[in-house]
Amino acid sequence: MLSLFFPIGKDDNFRMLQRKKVIIVGAGVSGLTAGIYCLDNGFDVAIYEKHAIPGGECTGWYRKGSYIEGCAHWVIGTNPKGDLYPLWEHIGAFDEKTKIYPTESLSDFDVNGKTLSLWGDLSQLEKEFCESFPEDKRQIRRFIKSIKAYSHVKIPTRGPLSQMNPFYLMNFSLKMAPMVPSFLKYKKMSMGEYVQKFKNEDLRNLLLRAMKASYNAHSFLYVMQSLYRKDAGVIEGGSIRMVSNIRDRFLSLGGSLYCNRPVQKVIFDGDKATGILLENGDRIDGDYVIVATDAHHACFDLLADAPGLDHFRKKYEKPIEYPLNIGFTVAFRTSHNVTDFSKMDDFRVEETVIHGVKINHIPVRNYAFDSTYIHDGKTLLTILLDATEESYQEWKKMSKEEYAAAKEDLAEFIKGKIAGYWKIGPEEIETLDVATPLTYERYCNAYHGSYMSFIATKHNKTLMESGKIKGIKNVILSGQWLMFPGGLPIALFTGKHAAYRVCKLERKRFIHNEKRAQKRN
Ligand SMILES: Cc1cc2nc3c(=O)[nH]c(=O)nc-3n(C[C@H](O)[C@H](O)[C@H](O)COP(=O)(O)OP(=O)(O)OC[C@H]3O[C@@H](n4cnc5c(N)ncnc54)[C@H](O)[C@@H]3O)c2cc1C
Repeated sequence: MLSLFFPIGKDDNFRMLQRKKVIIVGAGVSGLTAGIYCLDNGFDVAIYEKHAIPGGECTGWYRKGSYIEGCAHWVIGTNPKGDLYPLWEHIGAFDEKTKIYPTESLSDFDVNGKTLSLWGDLSQLEKEFCESFPEDKRQIRRFIKSIKAYSHVKIPTRGPLSQMNPFYLMNFSLKMAPMVPSFLKYKKMSMGEYVQKFKNEDLRNLLLRAMKASYNAHSFLYVMQSLYRKDAGVIEGGSIRMVSNIRDRFLSLGGSLYCNRPVQKVIFDGDKATGILLENGDRIDGDYVIVATDAHHACFDLLADAPGLDHFRKKYEKPIEYPLNIGFTVAFRTSHNVTDFSKMDDFRVEETVIHGVKINHIPVRNYAFDSTYIHDGKTLLTILLDATEESYQEWKKMSKEEYAAAKEDLAEFIKGKIAGYWKIGPEEIETLDVATPLTYERYCNAYHGSYMSFIATKHNKTLMESGKIKGIKNVILSGQWLMFPGGLPIALFTGKHAAYRVCKLERKRFIHNEKRAQKRN
């Protein structure tokens, strides 16, 4: 009560706390972020991670000396004037000294031998698209208008909206207002329906290569607005460097990180969690538990007895409403000089199914722009292929030998297509690795290998999960699963939200330690 009249300083906050202990399950981006914000606020923090290294799905690995980027193809929040930047900077992911390669276009698309790009520069986009598809001029201009409306989107980076005061909420809503009509319209429209607005079949096809038909159009416009705002890019050194920076920030603040420590479950005394049980049998006591893992694993394993999560469990029974993002990453390196080739080159191929993976276009990421991806003069190329629940099931049933052979078949098919499209010798392309949904399942406990959260479809009802669990006070969920379709920005701000909620439960004021005050938000 006193604090209402006499603002409590940082030191008082620390004294009042008596250093309560927060246990975090999972050292992905969200768990590490929650850890950093809890440390800022005077808690003792220990993170338990099943894998040998932190980062979760935000990762990369080495084969034959070459680094393979496994995640951050592009990170939203790289514009210092944007909402997310102060958070990324605060957790140490990157700052103004970091080299960031801006994502100027979503991709280059081959359209009947001509290259068209989904530029963030909307004048260029309008010019090129109107020239190529004159019959769709009107609709292209509407598309651009919608991207501009979407650029008013706000992200609740200060804390959970339910915890904000009315003035903040009013300001937040006013800033968002210009995008609300578009949001309400496109949230309920699938990409498949959205592209029907365009007359030209090639244009429709291009848009569906950018975002698959089951996604809602809102997801596509959100992505496009981040390019328009120059708020997306690739961090030099990729995911591994980004995560190492975040880990270092966490450790430098005094956090404890235990890798190779899979957690079996959260332990309860009645409706209060008292700590966690590790798979090795060790019990760790704590005052709060933040569960920052895959949501299926959280709901069905770690917190299997929590009835407050039934609404979330039910989502897994409705695969049409809540489909998963499942994919394969195929990595090559090439000795060909690809410096002048597109950074992201998407070309069509005749529809072919390889071991349940349907392929009708190949999106090649060419990492020639960053020397950290070049080893022995050979440049990394990666391809992320969409897959389905059926393909996951097909691969899951394979024997070890069949699995290895299937990976080779997939890589050989793609290699041949890239060589043909780029007109280079197949011998100039060498396979490095194929990461399947089973890879992500094995390393991260990702449900069926899902590499993001549920796909945001026109059927999804929930906008955002709070992370609170009905009936349980001191356990909070964090991570990309709290908001569809997931991704790094959601992992980031839900981590901060989780720390905010811990402070709230302790009845203490949350300290925002970001360098740039979050007045903008
Ligand atoms: C191929 C690929 C490409 C991607 N591309 C992009 C991109 O370009 N841009 C973007 O924004 N996002 C991208 N993503 C998504 C992004 O990686 C995720 O959204 C983000 O990393 C999720 O972070 P998280 O902390 O919420 O969850 P996770 O990364 O899933 O972290 C959970 C952590 O919990 C650990 N864990 C699980 N179970 C236990 C247990 N029982 N005990 C202890 N630890 C446990 C896991 O090992 C993991 O470290 C991509 C993902 C993939 C796989």
